[in-house]
Amino acid sequence: MECIIITIDGASSTGKSSLAKAIAKHYGFKHIDSGAMYRALTFYAQDYNLLSDHKFDVETLIARLPTIDIDFTKKDSIMLNGQIIEDEVRSMEVSNKVSLVAKEPQFRQFMVAKQRQLGAKGNVVMDGRDIGSVVFPNATIKFFLEASMEVRTNRRYAELIEKGEPVSIGEVQANIAKRDYIDSNRDDSPLIVPENAIVLSNDKEGMSGLFALATAEIDKRLL
Ligand code: C5P
Repeated sequence: MECIIITIDGASSTGKSSLAKAIAKHYGFKHIDSGAMYRALTFYAQDYNLLSDHKFDVETLIARLPTIDIDFTKKDSIMLNGQIIEDEVRSMEVSNKVSLVAKEPQFRQFMVAKQRQLGAKGNVVMDGRDIGSVVFPNATIKFFLEASMEVRTNRRYAELIEKGEPVSIGEVQANIAKRDYIDSNRDDSPLIVPENAIVLSNDKEGMSGLFALATAEIDKRLL
C-alpha cells in the first residue's frame, strides 16, 4: 500500500493539531504533533536549569541530545524519556521559550531526523511549521492553515483557562505574536507556505468546515 503522509503547517493556535487529530482519526492514521516535540525539549531544558529568563545553555543541551528520547505513546501523547508530559508542554512557561529552542539548527536537525523516522512507515498526519517544506517535501498532500490573530488568541486563551493556567488574554496574544516573529524570521526552516500546499482558513470555515474541505481533498488524492 502507498505510504501516505499528510502535512499541516501554519502559525501557532490556528487549529492545526485539532484538524490533524480529526483527520488522523477519520483515516485511522497516526497523528504526530511536531510542536509538542520542540516543547518537550524546551521542558527538558527548563527542568534541568539550562534555560530560564536569564540564560540558555545551548552547548550543554546539545551535548545532552543523545540522552534525550522524545516519542509518542500509542494514543499520540508526547513522552520525554518514557514519561508522558502532555500537560507540562502546554504551559505558558514552555510557550514563552519554545521558539528560542526551535530556532537553533542543531535542535532542528535532531527533530527532523526523529520526525522522518516517525513518519517512515506512512499513514501519518504530521503538523508543524516546516513539515511540508523541509521534513516531508514529497508528502502525499500538504495543507497550510491560517487564522486571524483574534481567532488564534481566543482559541489558545480558552485552552489555557480550561487547564487552570492563570493567564490574561493580552499575555496570550503577546506570546503568539512573539512566536510568529521568531518562527517566521529564523534562518533555519522559517514558517512558510510549502510548495503545492492547499491553503485553508480557520476564520471562514470553522473546524467542521475545515475537516470537510480537507477530507474532500484527501479523498481525491487517495482514490
Ligand atoms: O505547534 P506549537 O505552537 O505547539 O509549536 C511550538 C513551537 O515549536 C513553535 O512556536 C515553533 O517555534 C516550534 N516548531 C517548529 N517547527 C515545527 C513545529 C513547531 O519550529 N515543525
